[in-house]
Amino acid sequence: MKIPNSTFWVSVFIVLCSNPANAQMDSSGSSSYQSDLNGDIVNCGHLFDGPSYYIKQLENKSLDNMFSLTKEQKRAIGKANYEKTLKKYKLLNDFQHKESVLQTFANIKNAAHASTKFKLHVIASTDINAFTMIGGHIYLTSGLLDYIDSMDELAFILGHEIGHHEKLHLERKIKKIMATSSFFGKTGVEDFTKIAVDLNNKFSAPFDQINEYESDEYGFEVAKNAGYDVNRFADFFKKLEKNEDRSILTKLNSTHPFSSDRIKCLENYIAN
Ligand SMILES: [Zn+2]
Repeated sequence: MKIPNSTFWVSVFIVLCSNPANAQMDSSGSSSYQSDLNGDIVNCGHLFDGPSYYIKQLENKSLDNMFSLTKEQKRAIGKANYEKTLKKYKLLNDFQHKESVLQTFANIKNAAHASTKFKLHVIASTDINAFTMIGGHIYLTSGLLDYIDSMDELAFILGHEIGHHEKLHLERKIKKIMATSSFFGKTGVEDFTKIAVDLNNKFSAPFDQINEYESDEYGFEVAKNAGYDVNRFADFFKKLEKNEDRSILTKLNSTHPFSSDRIKCLENYIAN
């Protein structure tokens, strides 16, 4: 499915955004259920919508077994995307709260113990957006830095973005695209670079709700371990929630859970 350029920011943005109802797995493996505003069950990505959770696990397994991307290939794809981003947007050397932002990024990277070397880029844009590319490139907009009220909030967002990388969401998305494209079977670095450029819009597409919940949980744990205030992590969603359309159609079509449901899941992680 081709995603038009005009919707790129709108769709990827909500990287941190919003969706439906809950049954959360506690540490003993049993489920605790909560209702959202519509009376639906919110499950924080576990057993999400019943069968779709299991279908997702099967899909992950088959993608993981398909082939592996080497570090070199991931770096090549990430670099090609970075260069494309540079042509399209202005990256800022100076931005709001620079010192605190970089310190928070360093703290989160340390707490994540990730094998990837993550790099942070700030794009000049009033859009409120954050997204991650394979190879460890994390992009924030200056609009997002204006929108947040604390480094605790940013710590969770950065943890969430690293989560998309570490939980293989990006790698699987790329494999999925390759498996269904004419590029399948090509393994040279040059070919991967072409894939990165030609399919840029495709693999910048948003993740699904299960992946978003998984990254939220990862971001929660990492930011908590780095010493940030867990009670501030949901602030971002609390602000977004006010502008959200909560119609059933939005819920079914959305790649992201509703903010109110993500807030509930974060509250559940704090309680457990
Ligand atoms: Zn996300």
